Amino acid sequence: MTPSYKGRFAPSPTGYLHVGNAWVAVLAWLDARRKSGAFILRVEDLDEARSRDAYRQAMIEDLRWLGIDWDEGPDVGGPAAPYEQRLRRGLYEQALARLQEARELYPCFCARSRLLSIASAPQGLFSDEPRYDRRCLRLSDAERVELAAVKQPSLRLHVPDEALVTVDDRLLGRTTARPAEGGDFVVRRADGVMAYHLAVVVDDHAMGVTDVIRGADLFPSAFRQVYLAARLGYAPPRYAHVPLVVDEEGRRLAKRYGDLSLRALRQAGVRSEQLVGFLLWLAGQLDRPEPVRLAEATHRFDLARLPRHPVVWRKAYTAWLQAHADL
Ligand code: GLU
Repeated sequence: MTPSYKGRFAPSPTGYLHVGNAWVAVLAWLDARRKSGAFILRVEDLDEARSRDAYRQAMIEDLRWLGIDWDEGPDVGGPAAPYEQRLRRGLYEQALARLQEARELYPCFCARSRLLSIASAPQGLFSDEPRYDRRCLRLSDAERVELAAVKQPSLRLHVPDEALVTVDDRLLGRTTARPAEGGDFVVRRADGVMAYHLAVVVDDHAMGVTDVIRGADLFPSAFRQVYLAARLGYAPPRYAHVPLVVDEEGRRLAKRYGDLSLRALRQAGVRSEQLVGFLLWLAGQLDRPEPVRLAEATHRFDLARLPRHPVVWRKAYTAWLQAHADL
């Protein structure tokens, strides 16, 4: 039987999970369990040079400490195993071969420095990155052969200008955009590493994911991913992009904030109920940040109560957690 809801949390083991990751994981898990859905843990370790075994292991322990469990994942297996992207390369290659056959891909030999210097900064949704100017799309076959002799290319998906994608996000509403405004994007890097967009689309489909809950920073990615899914003949998942957690200066929390890693909080004796209480209070689910066990929050969870703006994690919250720790 296909469950009517299958959610997932898909972190990269490039550092210890922090409060911002816990926020997304808790919201994704609660939404899935509220709807009696299944939940998957997928390890996004495509970039093996940046991923570490110690982080992979810590991620599992820290999520369990929070009270999150999963029906499928690297440590418990499941019908779509393996759940670590570094072990799923064959599937991504098959998808690339299909796109290649449909002539949707082209090799790109441009150096990083050239890409960074491309002037036409895109507007709107895709404003964070320079838009590729399709120089390599126009290469002749002879030029490609010549360049390939000296340089390993990346592979780009050609996104036609006229393509339109609509994302009906449970929190952000319905938006229609042209994924081409973000440019033809890379599906396999020049060093051979598969690109995030490709792996996410292939895996969400192969694992039967129906619902993607993740940070609002990935909202623009949804347009590319829905487009790519359509090229591969897949129905896209439902999306909910949740507000980011930022610090008091408005910067999104990152792995560099050591004291906000779940590891550090645990080592300081913080109880997960206290952190979960804070997160649920920030998520509009509790009137006060009172300690709560994650499993007990399921029945009253309502994603629609989330704020629609970034959530500020104040230094005082960390200090409060540390001051009320068990040690
Ligand atoms: N692996 C991505 C990250 O850690 C998340 C991908 C996704 O949720 O689609 O940011």
